Amino acid sequence: MRERASRRGKARRAAAWLASFTLALSALAMHAGTERARAFRQTYTFEGSGWGHGVGMCQYGARGMAAAGHGYREILAYYYRGTQVSPWPCPQTIRVGLLEGVDAVQLAADAGSFRFYTAEGDIPGGVITRGETWTVKPGNGGFLLLRPDGSLLNGTSYGGVSKPLYLRGTSGGDVLRLPQNGNRRLGHLDSGHPLELNIQGSAPSSLRAVVISDFETYLKGLDEVPGSWPQEAVKAQAVAARSYAVRALGKHASSNFDICDEVHCQYYRGYDKESDSGWVRSVDATRGEVLTYAGQVAQCFYSSSCGGHTDNNEDVWGGSPVPYLRGVPDPYCMDSVNPHAHWRVTYSREEMEARLNAYAGTSVGTLYAVDLSDRTPSGRVRRATFTGSAGKKTVTGEQLRFILSLRSAMVDLEAENFDQYVLLANPSGSAARALVSMTGGSGAKQELEVEIPAFSRRTVHVNDHLEGEEVAVRVEADRGIVAERAMYFNYHGNLDGGSCSPGQQALSTTFYLAEGYTAQSFDSWVLLYNPGSQPARAVLDLLRDDGFTRGLSLEVPAASRVTVSVDGVEGFSSCAFSASVESDQPLAVERAMYFESDGRKGGHTAEASPSLSSNWYFGEGYTAEGFDTWILVGNPNARAAKVRFHLAPPGGKARVVEAVVPPRSRYTLHADDHLPASELAAFLESDLPVVA
Ligand SMILES: [Zn+2]
Ligand SMILES: [Zn+2]
Repeated sequence: MRERASRRGKARRAAAWLASFTLALSALAMHAGTERARAFRQTYTFEGSGWGHGVGMCQYGARGMAAAGHGYREILAYYYRGTQVSPWPCPQTIRVGLLEGVDAVQLAADAGSFRFYTAEGDIPGGVITRGETWTVKPGNGGFLLLRPDGSLLNGTSYGGVSKPLYLRGTSGGDVLRLPQNGNRRLGHLDSGHPLELNIQGSAPSSLRAVVISDFETYLKGLDEVPGSWPQEAVKAQAVAARSYAVRALGKHASSNFDICDEVHCQYYRGYDKESDSGWVRSVDATRGEVLTYAGQVAQCFYSSSCGGHTDNNEDVWGGSPVPYLRGVPDPYCMDSVNPHAHWRVTYSREEMEARLNAYAGTSVGTLYAVDLSDRTPSGRVRRATFTGSAGKKTVTGEQLRFILSLRSAMVDLEAENFDQYVLLANPSGSAARALVSMTGGSGAKQELEVEIPAFSRRTVHVNDHLEGEEVAVRVEADRGIVAERAMYFNYHGNLDGGSCSPGQQALSTTFYLAEGYTAQSFDSWVLLYNPGSQPARAVLDLLRDDGFTRGLSLEVPAASRVTVSVDGVEGFSSCAFSASVESDQPLAVERAMYFESDGRKGGHTAEASPSLSSNWYFGEGYTAEGFDTWILVGNPNARAAKVRFHLAPPGGKARVVEAVVPPRSRYTLHADDHLPASELAAFLESDLPVVA
C-alpha cells in the first residue's frame, strides 16, 4: 500500500480505518430511512414446509399414521380432536358447479351418446353422438344449440332464464367431456342426474354448467388422495370429504349449485377418478359415515401437508375458535414420501414487486423490507408486513400464500449474506482519490480505487467485491474524507436491522468496551482488525458484573481480523460484561450485538474506545414510549470507581445518581428508573478513568 502510494509520489493520508464484519449466513437489505444508504435486496428465496392452509387433517400425515398401523377412526380423532365417526342421513344428490360465467359451453361425447332436453321435453335432433363436439351459446333469450359444423339446430333457441337446458346419456356407459373444464369427464348422466346448463341474466358470458350428481358418486369423483395409499388413510379422507360435502351444501347457493369442483371446496375430477379402485373401495367402505361433534356434522377442513404442525382455525382465518380444529403436532408428514415436506421458491426483486403491487393490500411500491416474524403458535406466518416506498402493508398468512403463490404459510425468507457498504464523502473543493482495501476472513483481498469528486460522495458495495465472507475494510485517501460503514442484515434469518458507524480514525493498542450482553437472546461479538504488516498479540479481558474475569490471548495476523463470540467464552455465555483489549500492535476494535428482547429486536455495532476517561457525555437518550436508555460503565481498574451520573432533561434540572463500580467490574444505570418518559442528555464523572 505504502509502496504504491510513494511510487505515485503522492502523500496519502490515512483518513479512516474501518473494522467490520459480515456473517456468511445472513443479510436482508433494509431501508435505512436515509438517502445515504439504501440497500436493495435483489432476490427473495422462500423456504417452506407443507402445502395448504394446515387446518384440520393433514393428508400426508394421515398417510404416515396409516402406514404406522393406525385405523381411519384414530386418524380422524387425531386431527379433529373430540369428534367421532357416525352414520348420517346424507343427501341423495349434490349440485356440483363446473363452469360459470362463460359465453359458450362445449360438449364432447367420448363414449355413448347424449340427448338435450328441457322441462318441456326432448329437443328434436338434439343428440350428441360419439366423437362429436357440440356448442351451446345463449341467444334469442334462450339456448342456441350448435352442431359440430357450427350450424344452428332447428333454427331456434330452447329454454331460457330459469328454464335450464339438460343433457343425459342415452345408453349407460356414456362419457361426456367438457374441453373448457380441463377436459373433465362425466359418467352416469341420466334423467335423475343430468348435466344442467343455466342462463344467468342477459350478458353474453352468462352460461353456467352444473352436474346434478348422485351424492356417493360425487365422492368417488373427488381426487384428493391416491387410492394406492394405505387404505386407512384413504378411508379417513373419504369420511372427511363426505363430511365436508354435507357441511358445504349451499356454500355456492348464490350460483345455484352446492359445491364447486376446485380446491376452494374439494377437487372434483369426475369419471376418470372412478377408475381408482382403492379410492372407490374406501368411499364404499365408509358409505354414509361422517365425522360429528356434539351431534352435528363437523367442518372437516383438510390440506395436503401441514409442515409438521396443524393450526388453529382462528389463527389462519380469523373468526371464532372451532373446538375440534386445534393445531396438533404432526410427526407423520415430514418424511421422504411427502414431496411438499420442504420446498423453496425464489423471486427476483422485480417479480416480488410485480406480485405485491398487483394488489391494493400489498401495494408498497419499491420494496424495502419483508417481515414474517408474526407467527401462529404452530409456526405459520400469521401476518406478513411489507415495507416499501409507498408505505407499510400487512396481510394474513393465507393472503401471503395467495399473493406469492407459496405452497404454505409455514415459510421463512431465506437470509442473504449481510450487505455491507462503505460510504465515502469528500467535503473539500478538490477531487479526492481513495484506495479501499477489503480483507476477508479467508485471507482473500480486494482493492478498489475510488475517485470522489469535490463536495460529493461515493458508495462501495463491499459484497460486490468479497461475497460471503467476514470482511474488514481499510480506506486510504490523498486528502481528508469521511468514511462510514453501513451494514444491513438479517441475523439468523430473524433479527432484521441495520447499523451505521463511522470508521475509526486512529488505531490503538488499547480499547475499552462498556457494554456487552450474552443472556437471553443477545449475542455479542468482539472484532479485532490488524491492518498492519506485523502480527499482533492481543489480550481480550472480559469483566462480569460480579467481578468474574477472564483473559483471552489472541493472535491477530497481519492485515487480518479475528472475531470473538463472547457467548462462546466459558463463564460469559449468559451475562452482562465489559471488555478491554491490549495489543502489542495497533488495532481497530469493534463490538457487535444482535438481540431480541421485550419485543424489540435488532442489532448494533460500536467502535471501542481507545482510552478511559473520567468524563463521558451522551447527547442522546430517550426513556418514553417504549424507549429504554441504559448507561453502562466498565471499570477495568484495580480499585472501585465512584461515579456520578447527571441526567439532564430538556430545559430542566439535572437528576444526579451516584454509584460505586467495583474493581474490574461493570455497572448498569437504567435511566428510565430515574428520569422516566423524557428526552435526556447525560454526563458522567468518575474519580477513576472508566469506559462508558
Ligand atoms: Zn367452492
Ligand atoms: Zn402434517
